[in-house]
Amino acid sequence: MKLDLFLKNGLLVFPGEGALPGGLGIRDGKIVLTAALGEEFDAARSIDCQGQWIMPGIIDPHVHFGFGDPENDFRTESRSAALGGVTSVISFYRTKDFREGFDAERTRAESQSVIDFSYHLGLTNDLHVKTLAECYERFGVSSYKMYMMYKGQAGLAKGFTDIDDGLLFAAMRETAALPGAILGVHCENVEVIPYLRDPLRAEGRDDLVAWDEQSPDFLEAENVHRVCYFARKTGCAVNIVHLSSKEALDEVRRHRYAGGPPMYVETCPHYLFTDKHDPAGVLAKANPPLRSQDDIDALWEGILDGTVTTVGTDHVPRKRATKEKSVWSASNGLPGVATFLPILMEAGYHQRQVPPEVLAMVASRTAARTYNMHGKGTLTPGADADIVVVDPDLERVVDPANLLSYSDYSPFEGRSLRGWPTMTFSRGRLLAENGKLTDAAIDGTGHYLPRLPKHQR
Ligand SMILES: [Zn+2]
Repeated sequence: MKLDLFLKNGLLVFPGEGALPGGLGIRDGKIVLTAALGEEFDAARSIDCQGQWIMPGIIDPHVHFGFGDPENDFRTESRSAALGGVTSVISFYRTKDFREGFDAERTRAESQSVIDFSYHLGLTNDLHVKTLAECYERFGVSSYKMYMMYKGQAGLAKGFTDIDDGLLFAAMRETAALPGAILGVHCENVEVIPYLRDPLRAEGRDDLVAWDEQSPDFLEAENVHRVCYFARKTGCAVNIVHLSSKEALDEVRRHRYAGGPPMYVETCPHYLFTDKHDPAGVLAKANPPLRSQDDIDALWEGILDGTVTTVGTDHVPRKRATKEKSVWSASNGLPGVATFLPILMEAGYHQRQVPPEVLAMVASRTAARTYNMHGKGTLTPGADADIVVVDPDLERVVDPANLLSYSDYSPFEGRSLRGWPTMTFSRGRLLAENGKLTDAAIDGTGHYLPRLPKHQR
């Protein structure tokens, strides 16, 4: 059998299992074999990966494409993702009635994306809950998100009138009835925040530490408690997205029990890497806020013991100008899809000796499993040839100009990171090489990923 591509002499990283020197054979966009070190195969192209890791492509299950330039984000941000070794993303879709808007949104993204993609549906009204089963079937979307951040007054300011604990409970009941479906929840108790925030503002505080003080870890943990408790009562699989603190993580641990519904935890590269004293200041303003060194340590512990199941960037590609304000009025969120892998490499592999197979687990394999992304997150023959080749020792300073995002800043700009992708393959096509896109990075070559569990299709 002649291969299209043979990646040889690398370190094959098998998520959750281990890493072995060897090679990988690719044909017709699929992985067809793994080879022992020194084994040779006839291939149209052979690439020597000496000293490099060969990993399943990174999956970023939490991006907000559309928050930068709605018309073009799927073009620019999917390119930025490919550059960073990310081969699939799940973005968020929010509109009044999904049944009316989804197809057009998907079609536009299909014409722009250079990597595979899918959506989570943002549930903000009763209609969303009532039509959930229909949307699951019709669009193949098995993951949803509720924003406890947009309850009450905070929701009204954004035009949401229906978000309360009742809607949360109803969404959980509905999700629990759909095979393989999962509800992600943004956990911060937004009703308490003003009582902490207003005095800090009145004092004239304007710093990231104050941003943490206005929404401290226990307001996140309180919401986590409520979500996990309702999960136990409804049997709904829940996912605490962008979890930021030890306090909240311990709350999940308290609620998990054998035979209970899955309680997944996602954290973000920024919570694993930096804290509220970051000199980037308001550029690093996010929800939930950056926490402390203790929280960073606890999240890495959570990755090692399996409590933290996935990492997603919460990528928000806005311009620097939206950040250059007081901490109270600057925009929320950070661009991060292009620095996802280098940050895990620097903070995980280099600073903490976290093994490659653990990083591949939280940055690829578990996301594929949790979100029903068939053929992704694995090097097993038969899987899509979504591959990232990583030079673990390549050191580079983060410069937003090289990341190709619509966003023109990075909260990590100027920082030196060790461990960058040297090649990104999507379904066997080389999209990026040595920090540059290739000619194969053509708009619309990414595929939409329907995500129903296998027996449902
Ligand atoms: Zn988000």
